[in-house]
Amino acid sequence: MTRVPVALSCSVCGERNYKTTRVQRRSDKPLELKKFCKKCNRHTIHRESK
Ligand SMILES: [Zn+2]
Repeated sequence: MTRVPVALSCSVCGERNYKTTRVQRRSDKPLELKKFCKKCNRHTIHRESK
């Protein structure tokens, strides 16, 4: 298994708030997590970005 670093960015304001790693898989859908965004001051959907 290969773990690749990804950044999680807020889907509302685009701020990159979190860094994590994920297991690389072919034809995997992007990660979507509910995380707290300091800029929006609320929980928003965060998506992985490279
Ligand atoms: Zn935000």
